[in-house]
Amino acid sequence: MPRIVLLGPPGVGKGTQAKVLAQHLHVPHLSTGDLLRESVRAKSSLGEEADVYMRAGRLVPDDLVLRILRERLGRADAATGYILDGYPRNVAQANELDRIAPIDRVLSFDLPESALVVRLTQRWTCPKCGTAYNLATRPPKVPGACDLDGTTLVQRADDAPAAVRTRLAVYREQTEPLLEHYRRLGRLTPIDARGTPEQVAQRLRTALEGRS
Ligand SMILES: [Zn+2]
Repeated sequence: MPRIVLLGPPGVGKGTQAKVLAQHLHVPHLSTGDLLRESVRAKSSLGEEADVYMRAGRLVPDDLVLRILRERLGRADAATGYILDGYPRNVAQANELDRIAPIDRVLSFDLPESALVVRLTQRWTCPKCGTAYNLATRPPKVPGACDLDGTTLVQRADDAPAAVRTRLAVYREQTEPLLEHYRRLGRLTPIDARGTPEQVAQRLRTALEGRS
């Protein structure tokens, strides 16, 4: 039964890999960001609680995220396994998670910082329709302009190079102890995230088959 946590820095392609892997294993992909938004949309009592924080632009507290996660993990489709994405983010959360849900494997995507900076600074967005482009993997047909409406593309402030380096430093600081925690428990498998999404997906499947 695959109960998997995915870890990886921004820009590593974790969300894409999570979706592909979830389909391959026939288990749900549970992203905490999506779960929060869904529970708010569904107007569940937990969702209404979370909405108060989200509207105020504040982080939803750990215990509330955990209650939303526990509710989701209790549904039938998660009974044969799941892929968690976006949780835990630190050792305290990992310990909380262990109390409510067993985790068999932690797959951690590795990519050199220089490559992450290149990937992250290649994200450009259309301010009019919101379409996202990537100069390496999904470039606009006309450089600098939206394919759909021709609007000049813009870069999000936090995708500018200096901001990207800060985001990566914050990620490393929070996540290193978490990686060490799962390494000590013998659950951590590093995944080389260089190359195309197909190559990375293949490495993921190989890693999972190697020790199932
Ligand atoms: Zn557009």
